[in-house]
Amino acid sequence: MTDRPSIEQTQGAIDSLAERLCRTCGLCCNGVLFHLVRLQTGDLLSEFAGLGLKIRRKKGSDQFSQPCPALENCQCTIYSQRPTRCRRFECQQLQRAVQGKITEAEALLQIQGVQQRVRQIETLMETLGKSDPKRPLMKRYEKVMAESVALIGEERIPRIELEREMEELQWILDREFRVINQEGPGEV
Ligand code: SF4
Ligand code: SF4
Repeated sequence: MTDRPSIEQTQGAIDSLAERLCRTCGLCCNGVLFHLVRLQTGDLLSEFAGLGLKIRRKKGSDQFSQPCPALENCQCTIYSQRPTRCRRFECQQLQRAVQGKITEAEALLQIQGVQQRVRQIETLMETLGKSDPKRPLMKRYEKVMAESVALIGEERIPRIELEREMEELQWILDREFRVINQEGPGEV
């Protein structure tokens, strides 16, 4: 009979799985899944400002925009001090992998598929005009779409493609990543 893993061993395995997946992903921090992070009671504002997060007060809540300035090469540089919502959020892919409903390789494939779609969207946006990579993907998309509304003929083709790609991306993100009825680190 094999020994059952201890709670610590099980938690350790979950943590390593999360670390491996999140280190190749970053979608919940880089402005693709969300556009801002709202701070919660107990989050220390002064501490976050010192860590490089630009906190602003808007509509009664303290928040900072994504892409998060603390994200570097898919890693949170303030991981041990990250805000409450960042600690709580686990996307659907991570949840399913942790629960053994999908394999790590399947989750990775989904992440890579989304990253590829994002690159395609960015290329199309560049074709249509300037787009600031420091802004969330959806905000960049809305700006490019608004500025290219008057294009006609062949010049309009990338705009049509961009609209279709973005619709497909949002559909995948809703179905495979975002979590309904659970607070994400940010808001769509
Ligand atoms: S979207 Fe999921 S896998 Fe990607 S970094 Fe966030 S929690 Fe990790
Ligand atoms: S602070 Fe939050 S949003 Fe920023 S990189 Fe860390 S986990 Fe992501």
